[in-house]
Amino acid sequence: MPAPAVLSTSLSSLDPATGEVLGRFDSTRLSALPGLLTRARRVQAEWTSTPIRARCSFLSALRNQIYRRRDELADAVIRETGKPRVEALFADLFVTLDSASYYATFAPAMLKPERVQHHSVAVKAKAGRVLYEPYGVIAVIGAWNYPLAIPMGQMIPALVAGNAVILKPSELTPWCGTLIGELYEQAGFPPGLVQVAQGGGELGEALIAAGPDKVIFTGSVATGKLVAESCARRLVPCVLELGGKDAMIVLADADVEVASSAAVWGGFTNCGQACLSVERIYVEQAIAADFTERCAAKARLLKLGRGSDPQTEVGPLIRASQVDRIEAQLRDAVSRGGRILTGGRRRPDLGPCFFEPTVIVDVDHSMQLMQEETFGPVLAIRTVAHEDEAVALANDSAFGLAASIWTADARRGRQLAARLRAGAVMINDVASYFGIPEAPHGGRGASGWGRTHSKFGLLEMVQVKYVDVDRLPGWPKPWWYGYNHQLGEAADRFLQFLFAPQWRHRWRSARGALKTVFRGDRI
Ligand code: NDP
Repeated sequence: MPAPAVLSTSLSSLDPATGEVLGRFDSTRLSALPGLLTRARRVQAEWTSTPIRARCSFLSALRNQIYRRRDELADAVIRETGKPRVEALFADLFVTLDSASYYATFAPAMLKPERVQHHSVAVKAKAGRVLYEPYGVIAVIGAWNYPLAIPMGQMIPALVAGNAVILKPSELTPWCGTLIGELYEQAGFPPGLVQVAQGGGELGEALIAAGPDKVIFTGSVATGKLVAESCARRLVPCVLELGGKDAMIVLADADVEVASSAAVWGGFTNCGQACLSVERIYVEQAIAADFTERCAAKARLLKLGRGSDPQTEVGPLIRASQVDRIEAQLRDAVSRGGRILTGGRRRPDLGPCFFEPTVIVDVDHSMQLMQEETFGPVLAIRTVAHEDEAVALANDSAFGLAASIWTADARRGRQLAARLRAGAVMINDVASYFGIPEAPHGGRGASGWGRTHSKFGLLEMVQVKYVDVDRLPGWPKPWWYGYNHQLGEAADRFLQFLFAPQWRHRWRSARGALKTVFRGDRI
């Protein structure tokens, strides 16, 4: 076990399927945070001078550790979140393993210093380079729903870029948080480069106050606003990966059978507790009845149960309070004319947090269900007359994380994608881009700012530095002191030489412009 940070009370890890306590984990005292930061800074100073290829070999060792312990890691994810095994393997393990492989292979090229090509003759004598330097200490504050994939997908690029990381996992998934700390230790990363601070929201708040150099936050809009305020007060940059209300647009030429399977999986995977869940469906009139019927029929087939049961397709919600929230949204929707086709009920016979996969129709945007994030197993389907109505409704949301379009015509799909206000749009698939390491992930509007994953996620972990070498070091610059009337005229000639609309005019100004260079009156 890694040495935990200074201890005080403990956190309980609960099985959402039963409410049973799975274990207790030491929590970190708020007063310990400055010490964690100091240690991280000390270790990071050496880590940053480790060549990037050597840092990548640590990632390969990390990937091997994850692979070796994949069963144990999947078990922890299943027990703490309640999700089915297949989802723990595909969503948490695959994404984590592939992220380590991807950055171990491609980070060196992405962070290689870049030569800058200067377009203007005014600075042709300069050789410029862009360098990518780590921030220092990055605080990763995580949500509970993908307790391995999400923090690991952020920590891996942070580390390979030369930063130290302090992870504050959700207090609902302390077991996974502890395992993450162990993995880095066993992979041989320098002690103190990755530290796990366990605790609740107050610890997250104190971690930001302790002064990391950047914060990567994943969580709700409400907490994201607090994080943004706290970071702004300290001028600490942050990435905010917040909630979603993803729309699925199903056009009349779509394959109804495939699209309905996608809708059901996209709405109910992880029991609907994914930022990329399909929460709103807009289906064209011509196929609406068929599509809706198939969605309802497929939802009825899904087997609810504990994640550890290999037959389970939909597990429990994370806590009973989440069940209350979903019921309240459905009550509001039904009171405004929504019609539940299947589901809509708690299942106390299975455990305290089970709720049936639900399909509801006749929904409109006056309902909480269509405005607020649901984060539960509810598919809300609305019939639309044509694609313009679908696009307008999809964009009528505070959120802008991702969306999907279903059509046999890829060109039409791309055209519609360009009109959607979202960080990502998938044509004929849902959500799975999260598992494509080359795909940037992040939202617009209430879904947050900044990106994780891909080259763009890696670039969030570095500061850009421009370094310029003058090739004519013995030559004073035309714009330096020694101002007088002649230099003013020569400067204007110089502008004419560069920017006059007619080429003839430009050439006529060349001689006068050269007087800025050949001057005898410098100071
Ligand atoms: P929360 O906002 O409740 O918590 C997120 C993290 O912030 C937790 O670690 C939490 O600690 C911590 N925290 C709470 N208060 C503060 C504070 N004042 N300052 C700093 N940190 C704090 O979100 P959930 O964990 O409930 O996650 C669900 C949400 O996350 C959903 O809205 C979902 O859409 C979103 N999400 C977004 C993703 C994306 O990529 N865009 C991906 C996954 C989820 P603690 O849990 O210990 O209280």
